[in-house]
Amino acid sequence: MTKEELMRKAIELSKENVANGGGPFGAVIAKDGEIIATGVNRVTASCDPTAHAEVSAIRAAAAQLGTFNLSGYEIYTSCEPCPMCLGAIYWARLDKMYYGNNKTDAKNIGFDDSFIYDELELKPADRKLPSEVLLHNEAIKAFEEWAEKEDKVEY
Ligand SMILES: [Zn+2]
Repeated sequence: MTKEELMRKAIELSKENVANGGGPFGAVIAKDGEIIATGVNRVTASCDPTAHAEVSAIRAAAAQLGTFNLSGYEIYTSCEPCPMCLGAIYWARLDKMYYGNNKTDAKNIGFDDSFIYDELELKPADRKLPSEVLLHNEAIKAFEEWAEKEDKVEY
């Protein structure tokens, strides 16, 4: 499939998902024009705030391939990813991202993630989400154990 055909598949999934009661978002993960996995937004259907189309597609691709590393693959998403999905795309090490709608289009229909992008620019103390450091001396023990572990699977 060409990149346009792969994007059309992501768009088709986004439209089908609206008909199925979900949000208007679809994603496809592919390599060399072959689809390995797809995902749609299932936040309300699954009662899962993280079930965005891109995260769903990444989970499906990783399960299908039996690896957490999706380098060599590309993602086609019907809309520019939110910060969570963008982070997931980086963590999955996908090679390239294509998107159809942009975040302004999403904002115009009530899916505004710009406040998260804004929050990321701020120091933790200045964010709307209150946070505080707690039990750092205890939490760091797991990091020390990880640093010393010789047979770990690095990622
Ligand atoms: Zn997202």
